[in-house]
Amino acid sequence: MSEPQPTDEAAAAHAVRTHCAIDYPNGSRCLNCHARYPCDIRLAAVEILVAAAWQDEAIMALDARTGPWF
Ligand SMILES: [Zn+2]
Repeated sequence: MSEPQPTDEAAAAHAVRTHCAIDYPNGSRCLNCHARYPCDIRLAAVEILVAAAWQDEAIMALDARTGPWF
């Protein structure tokens, strides 16, 4: 009963993709929820991906913005 949960993994990947840093004069903030980066949602999502054996490079590659507001 400890099979990986693809839905959770996909949701976590989506959360990491959307909760990424943007530069503010007083430090990085989350693009999505504007909390100080990394926000709680991103931290929780990264934890899920790490638990699912994602490598750091794969997690970083989720931030595939082509511009600041992607
Ligand atoms: Zn966020």
